[in-house]
Amino acid sequence: MQPLAITDLQGVGPKLAEKLGALGICQVTDLLFHLPIRYEDRTRIHPIGGISPGQRVLLEGRIEHSAIVRARRPMLVVVLFDGTGRVTLRFFHFRYYQQQQLAKGTRLRCFGEVRAGFKGLEIIHPSYKRLAGDRPEPLADRLTPVYPSTEGLGPKQWLKMTDQALALLQRGALELEELLPRKLLEQLRLKPLAETLQFIHRPPADADVTALVMRAHPSQKRLALEELLAHNLGMQKLRRLQRALSAPVMPPCAAAEAAFLDSLPFALTGAQQRVAQEIHKDLESDKPMLRLVHGDVGSGKTVMAAMAALRATDNGYQTAITAPTELLAEQHLQTFSDWLVPLGIEPVWLSGKVTGKKRSEALQRISDGAPIVIGTHALMQKGVEFQRLGLVIVDEQHRFGVDQRMDLLEKGKTGDRQAHQLIMTATPIPRTLAMTAYAGMDVSVIDELPPGRQPVQTVVISNQRRGEVTARVAKACADGQQAYWVCTLVEESDLIAAQAAEEVAGQLHNELHGLTIGLIHGRLKTAEKQRIMDKFKTGAIHLLVATTVIEVGVDVPNATLMIIENAERLGLAQLHQLRGRVGRGSGKSSCVLMYNPPLGDLARQRMEIMRQTSDGFLIAEKDLELRGPGEVLGTRQTGMLAFRVADLARDADLLKRIPAAADALMQQDPDQADKLIRRWLGDTTRFAGV
Ligand code: ADP
Ligand code: MG
Repeated sequence: MQPLAITDLQGVGPKLAEKLGALGICQVTDLLFHLPIRYEDRTRIHPIGGISPGQRVLLEGRIEHSAIVRARRPMLVVVLFDGTGRVTLRFFHFRYYQQQQLAKGTRLRCFGEVRAGFKGLEIIHPSYKRLAGDRPEPLADRLTPVYPSTEGLGPKQWLKMTDQALALLQRGALELEELLPRKLLEQLRLKPLAETLQFIHRPPADADVTALVMRAHPSQKRLALEELLAHNLGMQKLRRLQRALSAPVMPPCAAAEAAFLDSLPFALTGAQQRVAQEIHKDLESDKPMLRLVHGDVGSGKTVMAAMAALRATDNGYQTAITAPTELLAEQHLQTFSDWLVPLGIEPVWLSGKVTGKKRSEALQRISDGAPIVIGTHALMQKGVEFQRLGLVIVDEQHRFGVDQRMDLLEKGKTGDRQAHQLIMTATPIPRTLAMTAYAGMDVSVIDELPPGRQPVQTVVISNQRRGEVTARVAKACADGQQAYWVCTLVEESDLIAAQAAEEVAGQLHNELHGLTIGLIHGRLKTAEKQRIMDKFKTGAIHLLVATTVIEVGVDVPNATLMIIENAERLGLAQLHQLRGRVGRGSGKSSCVLMYNPPLGDLARQRMEIMRQTSDGFLIAEKDLELRGPGEVLGTRQTGMLAFRVADLARDADLLKRIPAAADALMQQDPDQADKLIRRWLGDTTRFAGV
């Protein structure tokens, strides 16, 4: 059966197809794997007298009053009455013809969210339908799905498209094979795929909507299982393809390595020695390394990267080192320069912001074979030609999806030769999830902190005691130490975050006379950021006010005090990262978590965990436990993997089944496995190209 293209649906032209394509929807079947985010119950009419704020309800009544109210902006206000009560419908955006439509006496059916207004209950911008005469209008017999919104693609269009797709599905006109192994289906008593999709897209009125919205309904779990399985199979396939390539062999250069270790102001910890050996062993093989170094904040991962890079350099190969932010990449440039320039190796800097003559110079040096190149991830994507790339190091990689892995792989490949890859992360992933998140990678763990580190003392304080906190900052800085003051925002906007941080910096400036206060946020120019970080490093700035841009990796050992404002807004993983900015030297450090009272239950528990432990793994386990159903949809919290349906935390119970199921499928029916990968990960041409 030929798969139907999305343009085979009525009403889907090239323009719409392009929008859908951007969502990964190219075939009609893809549409069915794009699931509703919530449902509206339009199967029954609520008496207006019985509704309450927060409900999303279908109402029916007669318009008792309709007028354009001239406030700051004209507003259309309509009062609906059904014999049991009245509700006000408000339209801030409306056309004049709507006033005619919604004239007094009209019978109306409308749907929307009830809220408490100044004068009783109201609904803002309800969707509505005028009813003709007194004839009863049929009600929906299924719940109405709401799909994730996309610009220029309204709810009606989604309904129209999915209606068609479901009709095709019922007629058996879509190729939707059952790809899960029969044994698994029986074991878990899973419903057939077609039935599952039909149910998710058009659930009956009595379906468990709460479970559906949480994506915890058995029908969604079934899809999550498929997706996790596909992900695992995809990772394994990548690994196999990669194993088939050859990599540069890099034998030891004892003298140079000893000289480097001698030049360090510290000795490696036992854990670092072990991990260095594991990395070196990989580099000595002709199979591409794919190793993840996992070590908590401050465990000393950078020196592992340097040792690997040195091995490549000594063997005449180039190393590319990338970090997720300019700030981090610059810090690496600094550290690597400090360590390697004395050995006669000068790293090349290349970020997206290096332009003009500087850029062409850098590109020239890279194509001439400069041994070490440092920059942001963009470094590997902008047509940069290496002469002999042998090793790619990625610091603080947060995502481990097939896509990210694929990108990395493509970066390091020339012909059938593949550069070694080293990925470093401090994102603690609970052991239960690691198998899936890291599928197909070798993992080294630095499970020991450098000696002399003292645990960071953590206190939780209400905003109302801000005076005490600033006094503490003043004292620490008077004692020759330095501090961070982190402003957190719910908004994702760089601009708003920057403005808020600016305000806080100004305020602190007035409160803390005699201290030099620096301000750093995502909107500053690279050079400016660098200048401020340098000043903070050398101690010329006492207090650094920052947005969460300093979250990962920043290393200033003399900073011993971390203040986090509105800490209740952050998840455990982020709090742990931020706190990891202090306690990096031998001085005693503390972290102050300020909150805006009253503290909710979950936030209180998070604070308590932060007070009790500094063990990243334990924190990650707790994070998983605590992520209540309300939070599970926010994958941003862990930021580990972006799935379409599955969520590592919510679907943790499924994970244990995945490895065995994947093995079974691979053995019994590799073609089926490939189809499953294609269904969920799409674009297999990329796989083929590896
Ligand atoms: P992270 O693992 O968070 O990237 P870094 O590599 O930035 O940690 O190391 C944190 C700090 O610890 C740095 O100042 C680094 O020089 C120092 N460090 C690393 N290894 C050791 C060690 N074995 N002994 C003492 N200090 C070390
Ligand atoms: Mg680091």
